[in-house]
Amino acid sequence: MRGIMAWGVLALMLAAGAPQSGTEAVRRGEMVRTQLIARGITQEKVLAAFRKVPRHLFVPPVYRQLAYADQPLPIGEGQTISQPYIVAYMTEVLAIKPGEKVLEIGTGSGYQAAILSEMEAGVYTVEINKSLSENALKLLREMGYQTIRLKTGDGYLGWPEHAPYDAILVTCSPSAIPEPLKEQLAEGGRMIIPVGEQHAVQYLVLLEKKNGKIRQKNVLPVRFVPMINGQGKNY
Ligand code: SAH
Repeated sequence: MRGIMAWGVLALMLAAGAPQSGTEAVRRGEMVRTQLIARGITQEKVLAAFRKVPRHLFVPPVYRQLAYADQPLPIGEGQTISQPYIVAYMTEVLAIKPGEKVLEIGTGSGYQAAILSEMEAGVYTVEINKSLSENALKLLREMGYQTIRLKTGDGYLGWPEHAPYDAILVTCSPSAIPEPLKEQLAEGGRMIIPVGEQHAVQYLVLLEKKNGKIRQKNVLPVRFVPMINGQGKNY
């Protein structure tokens, strides 16, 4: 019985073109071990998401070879997808529970949104660049992420229609934390956001809303693209 099952699985894998996806899966496993576990990412669900989501499909074909490397990569329109460790860190630090509502600002390629969806969260994501937003929508739907909600717009304002959020994750850097995002955080909610001018030191800031009050601390020095407004000016 076991033998027949194994042959069945093998036949399925061959039919699905497994050699190539196998290679990518091996790279993902290596990325998880050497970049995430080695640096202290421990939540099994976060690690499982990174083993599963095909990061190479979120980067332009010319960068595919580097998709699992320990670095950020260009995704077009002058924007970048963060280094895997930073995506993992921001996901883990929010301690997202299944069924929670999460708002992401800066959809970019859609990779972080897919990772958040793997946390079994309800994902809302806002992207100011129309072409990136449209590409991400198409890719995520093709991959079967049917429930992620995407909007093209200025994420400085959050997405008030669906507030409050249990977690907010921002992937572009304003010089100060946007008030609307603080307001749209639920009681007990957490936010992780890079703050600082583009050419100065930026910090990932972790905020928590407890009894209506916000507490915050700097957790990691980082470098993110700026958060911009509709006229292209930095916030
Ligand atoms: N999370 C993305 C990385 C995005 S890079 C990923 O996983 O690929 C940051 C993104 O923030 C860019 O796509 C940029 O266009 C977007 N951005 C900049 N200012 C914004 C704003 N005010 N509202 C929404 N998105 C913004």
